[in-house]
Amino acid sequence: MRIPLVVGNWKMHGTQLECVKLARAIAQGLRKRRGRVQVVVAPPYTALGPVIKAARNSVFGVAAQNCHWQDRGAFTGEVSPTMLRDVGCDMVILAHSERRHIFHETDAVVAQKVEAALRNGLRVILCVGETLDQRRKGQTAKVIARQLQVALKRLTKNAIEKIVIAYEPVWAIGTGQNATPEQIRRVHRRIRQHLAALFGRAKASRVPILYGGSVNPDNAVALSLTAEVGGLLVGGASLKAESFLSIVRCFAEK
Ligand code: PEP
Repeated sequence: MRIPLVVGNWKMHGTQLECVKLARAIAQGLRKRRGRVQVVVAPPYTALGPVIKAARNSVFGVAAQNCHWQDRGAFTGEVSPTMLRDVGCDMVILAHSERRHIFHETDAVVAQKVEAALRNGLRVILCVGETLDQRRKGQTAKVIARQLQVALKRLTKNAIEKIVIAYEPVWAIGTGQNATPEQIRRVHRRIRQHLAALFGRAKASRVPILYGGSVNPDNAVALSLTAEVGGLLVGGASLKAESFLSIVRCFAEK
C-alpha cells in the first residue's frame, strides 16, 4: 500500500527566519499527531539549508522547487541538482506550472532536468497539467500524455521508483477553484495508464499521484477520499502551519 504524501510548496515566500519558524511549527504539530502520512516541504533555495537543519531528526522531508539540468557550468543564477544534494536535499519539484508558463520551460527541458535530478540521486515530483483553454478544447488527456511521454521516455524501468507525479490543472493553481473529484479521478486514471504503458503495470501501480490546485483545509477531506489521489501538493495553504497540518491530518486520519 502506498503511504499518502503531502507536499507544501512555499514558492518565493519567506526569509530564512520565517521559513525556519514555519518548519518548526510544522514539526511540532506532526510530533503530536501524524498517523501514516509522509510530509515534505519545499522552501525557497535561500532557506533550504536552514530548513533542512531544522528538519533534522524531524518527521518531514525537504524538497527544492526546481533545479538546472547540468551539474555545474556557466549558467548564472541557476542551481544544480548536485548543489541540492550538497545542501542535504533529497527531493525536487520539477515542471511546476509556474516554471512552464512564466519561465517557458518546455517538455524537452523538463526531460533533461528529470534525468539530471535522478542522476544526482534526487527523487522527483513531476508536475503535469492542462490550461483552461486546453481543457475547454477537450485536450486534457493529450496534453498530459505528451508531458509524461517527453519527460519520462528516456528513463530506465527502475528510475520510475524515484518519481512522484503531481496532477495540477493550471486553472486550479492559486485561483481558489479546484478540480472536482470526478475530474481528478479521470485524469489520475489516465496518468496511471500512461505510466503502465511506459514502465509496466506493477511499477506504475506504485507511483504516487498527487493532486494540486487550491487545496485548503475545507476541501482536503473530500480530496483525501477521492480514489486515486495519493496525496496533495499544496501551495498557498502550506504557508500557515495550522492550515497545512489540518490538510495533512485528513490523510493521517483516513
Ligand atoms: C502549487 O503551487 O503547486 C499549488 C497547488 O498552489 P495553490 O495550492 O496555492 O493553488
